[in-house]
Amino acid sequence: MTDFATTGDLGSQGSLATRRDQMFPTLSAGQLARLQRYGKRRAIRAGEILAEPGDRGLPMWVVLSGSIEVIQVGIARETTVVTHKAGGFTGEMSTLRGISALMRMRVGSDGEVLEIDENCLRTIVQTDAELGELFLRAFILRRVGLIESHAGDVILLGSSHSADTLRLQQFLTRNTFPFLYLDIHEDADARALQERFTLKVSDLPVVLCRGVVALKNPSNEEVAACLGMNPAVDDLRVRDLIVVGAGPAGLAAAVYGASEGLDVLVLETGTPGGQAGSSSKIENYLGFPTGISGLALAGRALVQAQKFGAEIRTASPAMRLRCEGRPYAIDLPSGAQVKSRCIVLAGGVEYRRLDLESAARFLGVGIYYGATATEAKRCRGDEVVVVGGGNSAGQAAVFLAGTSSVVHMCVRSQGLAASMSSYLIRRIQETPNIKLRVNTQITAFEGTDELERVTLTTSPSGATETLPIRHVFLMTGAVPSTHWLSGCVALNDKSFILTGPDVPTQSLDPALWSAGRRPEFFETSLPGIFAVGDVRCGSVKRVAGAVGEGSACIQQVHLVLGMKAMPAPRSVSIFP
Ligand SMILES: Cc1cc2nc3c(=O)[nH]c(=O)nc-3n(C[C@H](O)[C@H](O)[C@H](O)COP(=O)(O)OP(=O)(O)OC[C@H]3O[C@@H](n4cnc5c(N)ncnc54)[C@H](O)[C@@H]3O)c2cc1C
Repeated sequence: MTDFATTGDLGSQGSLATRRDQMFPTLSAGQLARLQRYGKRRAIRAGEILAEPGDRGLPMWVVLSGSIEVIQVGIARETTVVTHKAGGFTGEMSTLRGISALMRMRVGSDGEVLEIDENCLRTIVQTDAELGELFLRAFILRRVGLIESHAGDVILLGSSHSADTLRLQQFLTRNTFPFLYLDIHEDADARALQERFTLKVSDLPVVLCRGVVALKNPSNEEVAACLGMNPAVDDLRVRDLIVVGAGPAGLAAAVYGASEGLDVLVLETGTPGGQAGSSSKIENYLGFPTGISGLALAGRALVQAQKFGAEIRTASPAMRLRCEGRPYAIDLPSGAQVKSRCIVLAGGVEYRRLDLESAARFLGVGIYYGATATEAKRCRGDEVVVVGGGNSAGQAAVFLAGTSSVVHMCVRSQGLAASMSSYLIRRIQETPNIKLRVNTQITAFEGTDELERVTLTTSPSGATETLPIRHVFLMTGAVPSTHWLSGCVALNDKSFILTGPDVPTQSLDPALWSAGRRPEFFETSLPGIFAVGDVRCGSVKRVAGAVGEGSACIQQVHLVLGMKAMPAPRSVSIFP
């Protein structure tokens, strides 16, 4: 049983108001009896602190008698979020991941709890269908509740005119991390905090981490470290599988790999979800007839991978592949290395940066490479430009048309038919505030600190028009993320990874490949290294294609793991 406090009651807010019972269910006598063998009983005493924000590897406490208060520790005061009584249980998504806790947990009244550690909790989630679903649903809803009510211990102090503020907003949002955003131009509280922490405007954006550490314009890696977003990494353990990239392909590989018993580590440069995570609505992914946002899809996949025990590290780029020996190794930014018998390369693609010098200057302050709610807020009511004729540009135009006054959609070609799905073309035609401008490109960006004007040039006439536009969304061609592979695997002329039948025989070092063995369909020119999704030459550049490839390649990973290890290479042959 669980009591809601009058303040900070997550259950009464937003879309969660109707889901209290699922968020804070009371376990039945039968369910409690089933849990007994997974935990140990211990007494609790009123006032005892069970956990502080930032503590890692916490168990789940199931209340048998007495009560536990869950408390948000603010800068000025404590707020009781919820009180768990007999039959209630603590925990949210961080409990399952073994990463830092967000709340203080204090015993409200004397009693007894069943303490269930992370491994046993994962066993329950994987093996007991009823309790697994009950816990996962409660954990997800609790996390959503924390996000909706900004009930964390993280404050982002920034400015809507700053590129780094946008980067940090994107990073925290896409990592499903609850935070409170205070804008220095709009919130009196922001100015009060600025004075209290003696922060200069040039220090912004600032992340106040647990009310004490003020990180001035931190990198994503610094924020991840401060907030304990990642489990402590065990660099010495040789994994069965390292997956590089947590887009749809990498997350699918993690789910299938971990669910089939492999020891899986996922490295992700930014945030889980990849390109799909920046999509406002994916409508062609099987099973979601009304569409699903990329963020929601990525969030679900992340939970699924963690449920099966995959370890996921965000803000943790693979810097360099070391393929001169086996097991293979990957350098991390800290200088540490992680090692694995097999690797799945799922680094996807990045948008090609526009080849205009000024484009880099306005990145995040008028030029954006993704159109989600975070960016849309910045241009509410304004005219915007979307550049590109593919599905991602089409989606962005339709999405932004909902909040912007006019969306100018600029394409270099004569129309959209050759590059965009017909459902999106129809939607664009039916949206009165989208203006399609064919044969048109941007030839200049202007502004002082932020973008203020763009010049459009139409071919073949060469006619130009300068518009007072402050927001441009660039969704033009993409380049594969293969720069870090240090020549280890064979690539095509556009730097996409060759796999299976596409790998030329000359790229296969006979010292590494036993007689007659050719790469499996998703295997690269190096045995045990696979490539899936958008980064793979010949893949269908779609969410479903990426998920299919990530899932299917695991069967080939098993096959290779079952083979006798080949000797380390004398030299590595790369290109044909
Ligand atoms: C805005 C937008 C809308 C879209 N809408 C649709 C749609 O509606 N339907 C559809 O089917 N498709 C859509 N797509 C395409 C779809 O999202 C992609 O095909 C799909 O995401 C590819 O998945 P992936 O996992 O192969 O690569 P990505 O999604 O590109 O993910 C790769 C991940 O790897 C990470 N990474 C790269 N290098 C490294 C490294 N060295 N170390 C660690 N991590 C690394 C990246 O940060 C990224 O998170 C859309 C794309 C965009 C951009």
